[in-house]
Amino acid sequence: MAFEGLSTRLQNVFSKLRGKGKLTEDDVNEALREVRLALLEADVNFKVVKDFVAKVKERAIGQEVLQSFTPAMIVVDIVNKELTELMGGTQSKLARSNKPPTVILMAGLQGAGKTTMSGKLAKLLLSQNHRPLLAAADIYRPAAIKQLQVLGEQIKVPVFALGDQVSPVEIARQALQHAKDHNNDYLIVDTAGRLHIDESMMEEIKQIAETVDPDEILLVVDAMTGQEAVNVAESFHKQLELTGVVLTKLDGDTRGGAALSVKAVTGCPIKFAGMGEKMDALEPFHPERMASRILGMGDMLTLIEKAQAGIDAEKAKEMERKLRTAEFTFDDFLEQMEQVKKLGPLDQILDMLPGAGKLKGMKDVKVDDKQMGRVAAIVRSMTKEERANPELLNPSRRKRLAAGSGNSVQDVNRFIKQFEDMRKMMKQFSSMMGPKGAKQMKN
Ligand code: GDP
Repeated sequence: MAFEGLSTRLQNVFSKLRGKGKLTEDDVNEALREVRLALLEADVNFKVVKDFVAKVKERAIGQEVLQSFTPAMIVVDIVNKELTELMGGTQSKLARSNKPPTVILMAGLQGAGKTTMSGKLAKLLLSQNHRPLLAAADIYRPAAIKQLQVLGEQIKVPVFALGDQVSPVEIARQALQHAKDHNNDYLIVDTAGRLHIDESMMEEIKQIAETVDPDEILLVVDAMTGQEAVNVAESFHKQLELTGVVLTKLDGDTRGGAALSVKAVTGCPIKFAGMGEKMDALEPFHPERMASRILGMGDMLTLIEKAQAGIDAEKAKEMERKLRTAEFTFDDFLEQMEQVKKLGPLDQILDMLPGAGKLKGMKDVKVDDKQMGRVAAIVRSMTKEERANPELLNPSRRKRLAAGSGNSVQDVNRFIKQFEDMRKMMKQFSSMMGPKGAKQMKN
């Protein structure tokens, strides 16, 4: 997943700090030097890095940190807040016009994922009981129209197309009329991209924008292209009044620089992230949740939202409370795992669990469905009492679990340790945030 290198490096910096107890100004400076390097290596724009480190420094050198008994935690908290700010602070939602249809114009280079993203957005809107219409205005890329039509059929959203012999401006104009006539409350116009920014592409999309007067001009950029994505965003923003950016391919092993720089450089909020090729691989972009994932603190809220389709809201709330108060038992773990399996690729889901980065970073731990099956077998071999009270698991019981689940004793020990670490970490986070922090997390 994206940010893996950055995430590991930052977590290393912080665990070094944690080992120190009280911090001196030198300790903080040294940590910030490493944070700076980690960000640069993650391909974050150097000016952005400079500003970021200066801001963190200003806050971290304050008396509060140096005199605190838990200085490392305060530093993590500062970095968390600044990362959140860097990515836009709060979630920026999709526009909604009070004179429907709300028109969304999709812009971007070829291959960035515009057509895919148009489909994903349409599917999301449909699931929110809207009546979206897709318009196929990319007449240049071979098969782009067909691709949108196939997606439309798959997600059951109508696609307006006039073939590739009619100008994109005319297609967009007629699509808008069609949406009005057919009571579609959202119109998503998929436009043509080029391999590079060029005059005629810009001219054309500007004309389309003049014709359909969009409520939203979303620039789709490929997060895998790093700094280039930010340059593209800057160029587009000079020509078009972008209202937001959509980052695609955040599921890949992108270093994450684009996600961390694009808002600061262009001022455009990131509205969505594409997390895969499938139509439901879309996440509304929440800066605070992304920051939390980068810092290995997980993203329980997104996880819970994803789970909501499968489990009822009360249960989800209860699970979140248990995690926060560290009442989480092995049974809860098992139940959570069953739910999690329904939610999507395991490595993406794992990134949403606090401390999961560490688990993934261990060379001998494979994070895949098979591994999860083995872990589940360990829990299933436990008695009811053991599941509720991990402290009962003495060596002879662990030996029994290993034999019963087809694992080695080391495997069992490792799993129990990870489980306990997770509980401990949750407890730390919740006490660090206090009731106020927990409330902020909910909003
Ligand atoms: P367009 O030229 O901008 O319309 O780009 P497409 O929508 O055709 O996407 C280009 C390629 O990127 C296709 O193979 C898509 O399946 C793939 N793609 C799009 N979005 C994502 C994403 O979020 N993750 C991954 N892994 N692939 C994506």
